[in-house]
Amino acid sequence: MDMTKETLAEIRKNIRRAKKSEFYKKHFAGIDPEDVKAEADFLKLPFTDKEDLRNAYPLGLCAVPEERIVRIHSSSGTTGTPVIIPYTRKDVLDWAKMFKRCYEFAGVTAKDKIQITPGYGLWTAGIGFQLGAELLGAMALPLGPGNTDKQIKMMIDMGTTVLTATSSYALLLAEEIAKRGVKDKIRLKKGVIGSERWGKKMRKRIADELGVELYDIYGLTEVYGPGIGINCMHDAAMHMWTDYMYYEIIDPATGEPVKEGERGELVITTLQKEGAPLIRYRTHDLTREVLGKCACGQDYPRIAAIDGRSDDMVKVKGTIIFPSRVDELLSGVDGVSSEYQIMIDHVNGKDVVTVFFETARKSDGERRDLEKTVEREFKVSVGMTPKAKAVGMGELPRSEKKTPRIFDNRY
Ligand code: ZN
Repeated sequence: MDMTKETLAEIRKNIRRAKKSEFYKKHFAGIDPEDVKAEADFLKLPFTDKEDLRNAYPLGLCAVPEERIVRIHSSSGTTGTPVIIPYTRKDVLDWAKMFKRCYEFAGVTAKDKIQITPGYGLWTAGIGFQLGAELLGAMALPLGPGNTDKQIKMMIDMGTTVLTATSSYALLLAEEIAKRGVKDKIRLKKGVIGSERWGKKMRKRIADELGVELYDIYGLTEVYGPGIGINCMHDAAMHMWTDYMYYEIIDPATGEPVKEGERGELVITTLQKEGAPLIRYRTHDLTREVLGKCACGQDYPRIAAIDGRSDDMVKVKGTIIFPSRVDELLSGVDGVSSEYQIMIDHVNGKDVVTVFFETARKSDGERRDLEKTVEREFKVSVGMTPKAKAVGMGELPRSEKKTPRIFDNRY
């Protein structure tokens, strides 16, 4: 996104701050912030990745004397060492200001009652939603996750107007409210949903069942937490707070910037952070810049809702296959279920892609027609023709966690 002289000055300041940490002292050894005079110089700076942050455990990222740290958070390390992010008093306040702005963009006011269902603790979610609510002057109801009976009771008794949740928990609550027949006692107007990949179908169900407007809030613990961007009531794209961060969108395979408006990986450089400044941090979240001015009249640039992770993609014969793109194209083919698997094999010196999909149709003729349609649609959406293979419903393996979709058997 546009790099102004002021942004460049902020970036130089940020590099100077960052280089006080053990991590950036090494990572940026030999880099003089004064040499970053133009965007081209900035683009030569090395990326920072989650693995770097893990290796800096516990406080290698800390760029100020430890007595200035007022809080730490930790990102959910499902594998191995967690990442510890230290915050100064200013960092905590900046985060609250950004979060307050998110609520304001969603039309939430001091008169609202905000029920907070994301978790509290080392994770940044719950406390971020609360900080923003309190700074806004709204009433925070800090329930945290789980205990659906109590959630619904509080929602009714307190007259909650804003629900903050993950998309899956919002859906669960919506279903429970419908099941119990208490929808007429619920006063909800808005839902602020933490950024996960969630389909249009799910969004519509939550909105319809709860009777609310939904907002996508973006963020990650490494960079404050949730609250660094949100969509407004005019559009589904998220406004990003460029006074606190500089954003790039890169080709995840080459690391080069994508063309304006093209899809790629979001990379964030903090401009204000003191405790743990980050430079060119790879989020692995896939999005694209949404060009043009938003109907709300705000100048904050926008990105499309996150629709995948760069770690999930594979490259075949120069073409990148994203599971989210495949989800999308298959959902548009009548007769094909949402369950599919892609196998990539190396046969006789060639990469072969096979798409298995489930269908309720039984006759060979019908199945062959579906296979042809999938092959054609794949070519249009992904840019290469696979071999498509129809199987019966329930024939592909299921997993309780996230079901793997792409199996790369080439290596
Ligand atoms: Zn807007």
